[in-house]
Amino acid sequence: MARGAGCRVQGAEKSGIKMNRKVYIETYGCQMNVADSEVVVSILGDKGYQATDDINEAGLILINTCSIRENAEKRIWSRLSTIKHIKKMNKHVIVGLIGCMAERLKERVIEANQLVDLVVGPDAYRELPALVAEAESGHKAVNVLLSHEETYADITPVRMDKNGVSSFVSIMRGCNNMCSYCVVPYVRGAERSRDPESVIMEVTELFKSGYRDVTLLGQNVDSYNRVSDGNKTGFPELLEKTAQIDPLLRVRFSTSHPKDLSDDLLKTIARYNNICRHIHLPAQSGSNRILKLMNREYTREWFIDRINTIRSFIPDCSLSTDMIAGFCTETEEDHLASLSLMEWAGFDFAYMFKYSERPGTRAARKYPDDIPEEIKTRRLNEMINLQNKLSAVSKKKDIGKVFEVLIEGASKRSAEQLSGRTTQNKVVVFPKENFKKGEYVQIRIEKSTSATLIGKAVNI
Ligand code: SAM
Ligand code: SF4
Repeated sequence: MARGAGCRVQGAEKSGIKMNRKVYIETYGCQMNVADSEVVVSILGDKGYQATDDINEAGLILINTCSIRENAEKRIWSRLSTIKHIKKMNKHVIVGLIGCMAERLKERVIEANQLVDLVVGPDAYRELPALVAEAESGHKAVNVLLSHEETYADITPVRMDKNGVSSFVSIMRGCNNMCSYCVVPYVRGAERSRDPESVIMEVTELFKSGYRDVTLLGQNVDSYNRVSDGNKTGFPELLEKTAQIDPLLRVRFSTSHPKDLSDDLLKTIARYNNICRHIHLPAQSGSNRILKLMNREYTREWFIDRINTIRSFIPDCSLSTDMIAGFCTETEEDHLASLSLMEWAGFDFAYMFKYSERPGTRAARKYPDDIPEEIKTRRLNEMINLQNKLSAVSKKKDIGKVFEVLIEGASKRSAEQLSGRTTQNKVVVFPKENFKKGEYVQIRIEKSTSATLIGKAVNI
């Protein structure tokens, strides 16, 4: 039977077996999960655990999971089946499922897969050491309590990103929007904003240790709001304070919600050169009827107005979006409205998904998942084909222009080339010369491929 944290711990160490204190953590899903894994490694590190990249030498294997679409969960079940052989070879290895899928399925994870010793939701990571100890003593351990306060503000994440130049900092958790298709509010709980002082401290430390590009993360950053000692900090103020840490620090943020994207925020971005000229603004659909069913709380016209306003305040801003194909009852006309919105906006980049019904959501309870799979696939492919064209157009427009590029490291294809990003979040590859990771360099763009701009350094 599964048990929660706080139970009597009868450690295997007490029974003479020396526990292996190496933790291997595999992360699925969004950047929030990556940031959470860094918090988890920090919490375990304080109890003597050391992170390892080699699953075979770990005494503790954690899978940080995603529930956003059915396919994400399928991948995790199939990964668990490949981990079986490790457990067969060493029965003392503890396997834990943590994050969104743990929260969604709770004890059912253990019923479905006996390999799993530990199930921990996103707000219970402080309990991990106690839960691991419990699992080590032979009990299944579960803690999936959600919290109204937990932000892990006092925990310094252990950076697992490899380049040492760009990093992510979580500024809030949970979500109060109830988009009808989305499982996030159920698995990550209510929205709460992290204390601004702790955000500024964490980013300052990152800057001091060489990081030059930081992305502030939340499901809906525009609704960041923290009142402490009677002082209210909204997202524009937090962004401004972060940008003021140092002009050499680039600041990004994700994700914005079109209903909450304020003129105030856009004016703040325009005032600071080091706040990046890129906004990720998920549209999801171009049809007002579908947006209403999705409970997105904006219309196509509102979305268009937001983009026009972005362009008037920040003319060189790039735009990316998320789109869902084949939501409940979507007609061909609705789908064409999505394509026409994408075309009108001329997005530089987009993440596009087939609608995947998630149990317990409002859409699953109220609307039929009635678009046949082959139609969802066809509509998604039409979106992808259109976006490929839009991305190519966006890159072609950059040819001949000079961009300031922050160098992130060697290019994937050649050790003689370096790779970095523009403020618009476009990847640029160029000859190495004597440049180094973490430096800014002016690059004139000479050509482009489907994903990359290619250029050469220039003196300006
Ligand atoms: N909070 C962000 C927002 O509101 O745009 C993003 C949250 S979610 C992690 C990222 C994207 O997954 C969403 O923008 C949406 O396009 C997609 N998504 C969420 N639920 C989905 C579902 N049930 N089926 C398909 N795509 C989904
Ligand atoms: Fe999900 Fe909507 Fe919240 Fe984004 S804003 S996490 S899509 S409920």
